[in-house]
Amino acid sequence: MSTIAVHQSECMRLHRVGGPLAAERRDLPAPQAGQALLRVRACGVCRTDLHLVDGELPEPRLPIVPGHEIVGEVVACGSGVHWSAGARVGVPWLGHTCGRCRFCTSGQENLCDAALFTGYQLDGGYAEHVLADARYCFELPHELDDAHAAPLLCAGLIGYRSLRMAGDAERLGIYGFGAAAHIIAQVARWRGQEVYAFTRPGDAPAQRFALELGARWAGDSDRMPPEPLDAAIIFAPVGALVPLALKALRKGGVLVCGGIHMSDIPAMPYNLLWGERVVRSVANLTRRDAIEFLDLAARAPVRTHVETFALADANEALERLRAGRLTGAAVLLPG
Ligand SMILES: [Zn+2]
Ligand SMILES: [Zn+2]
Repeated sequence: MSTIAVHQSECMRLHRVGGPLAAERRDLPAPQAGQALLRVRACGVCRTDLHLVDGELPEPRLPIVPGHEIVGEVVACGSGVHWSAGARVGVPWLGHTCGRCRFCTSGQENLCDAALFTGYQLDGGYAEHVLADARYCFELPHELDDAHAAPLLCAGLIGYRSLRMAGDAERLGIYGFGAAAHIIAQVARWRGQEVYAFTRPGDAPAQRFALELGARWAGDSDRMPPEPLDAAIIFAPVGALVPLALKALRKGGVLVCGGIHMSDIPAMPYNLLWGERVVRSVANLTRRDAIEFLDLAARAPVRTHVETFALADANEALERLRAGRLTGAAVLLPG
């Protein structure tokens, strides 16, 4: 496939912590060996993008174009990449791994010492075009259009890894009912699990949304579920939820923290952990997670709820996410 030079392309770029993102034109080089140049058809807005703007992630590469839930269309390929022009691929958070460290060689490339992440160290999808390493791009389920497929690429993938780490719980609690939760609740229901949804106290719309998606129970995060939970996942970046969720778990239950950043966990009595309860975090994703989940999302099938924004309105989309004024996931549609 011949290489088409795209000289200039619009993007929304972060120059300093605290933001806002600036609308800019930038030069894009031709794809190098192993890379593809993609036209961005949709890019999801993830809470991690907010943490990036707010300076809650260490050492971002600035300036940076955020966005790691990219649905792209192949424009040009570097040597060694043989995709046809117009093919649709997804680009997730994991953008590069070393392939040699103890984690890469033991099925834990999500923990690679030298990993690079899309929209954090590699320019991402808040843009008309993006350059991606073809080894970390994935085919997407045909059933979903661009906007509805985008949230699968982080909310779905990290949510799926969190669900996997929660084991085969019959009763699964989910704390924070945003983009990841609304996808994972559907997968859990499809697997025959009961979902108990916890939201910000008084957030009746989110609780209704959870019940519509098949949750058995929905309530405020400071309430106890009607039955003890076998496992729970916390997607909200709120450390104070850890003791609350532990209190809701049965003995031997597992609590998974699915976020990349969380406020401090308050001191708590040891008896909340006693009884072989387990607390663990989930970091990033492996390519195996992506292949498994995207296949499963097509079969379940997962239906995402999205609110779309123009690329130029990326700052507004981030503010809506910050304020909790979104149902489902925000997605940018460049062009
Ligand atoms: Zn590695
Ligand atoms: Zn994300």
